[in-house]
Amino acid sequence: MIKGIVTDSKTKIKTEYREPIVGFADAKDKRFEQLKEIVALEHKLPTDILPAAETVISFFIPFAREVVKSNRQQANYTVQQWAVAYQETNQLIDQICRELSSFLAEEGIKSAWELPTYNFDQERLISFWSQRSAAKISGLGEFGLNRMLITEQGSAGRYGSIVIDKALTPSSDFKGQPCLYYQDGSCQVCIKNCPIGALTEEGFDRQLCYQRCLENAQLMNDKGLEGLFDVCGKCQVGPCAVVND
Ligand code: SF4
Ligand code: SF4
Repeated sequence: MIKGIVTDSKTKIKTEYREPIVGFADAKDKRFEQLKEIVALEHKLPTDILPAAETVISFFIPFAREVVKSNRQQANYTVQQWAVAYQETNQLIDQICRELSSFLAEEGIKSAWELPTYNFDQERLISFWSQRSAAKISGLGEFGLNRMLITEQGSAGRYGSIVIDKALTPSSDFKGQPCLYYQDGSCQVCIKNCPIGALTEEGFDRQLCYQRCLENAQLMNDKGLEGLFDVCGKCQVGPCAVVND
């Protein structure tokens, strides 16, 4: 279990993790406004989540190396360990936000948050609060060719964030470009790993990708797993998945 994160008996997490990282962004950072142009007009500002927003706290929970290895073993469809990690970590993020919010309330600090997933336009498949973008503005990493944020702990894992009404010193911007493709045109493992060609050098077909994620969800349900496992992650298990471990 992650150091410093307490889970109660209601959240039976089996997934193992590496050390999480945390960053802070000024809620008035202009880059949040730019997301309305980059992602969608409906993309929220921190003040849409909490009117008195001062700071966005963003965190990354990296999967254990074994979870990453598991999803490298089978080429086409996601493996159960990865799918379970995805679902359990979403629950964990929700629990972290709830517990953190209760703790902050005792200190007189208001907070609010968006769920780590399922807050997106079902037709356009566009998120109304991009956890990865919030993490980038919070200095946690830089985007790679696979559209994941690559952090000092790699890119395989899940992001969460919480908005608070207390001003904290923003984190410095992430320095450097960890994606090998953006460094020198090499690697492209993420593109080679995509079983359906949804990720290419030219761009990303989110509809095609989501279809594969839904197929994986059905496969997991067919195995008897309850819940929504709309995930794939084959483009997230390349050399940038785990670093500094
Ligand atoms: S797999 Fe390679 S090319 Fe793709 S994001 Fe990671 S480092 Fe970049
Ligand atoms: S998550 Fe989407 S883009 Fe990535 S490998 Fe799977 S289908 Fe391709």
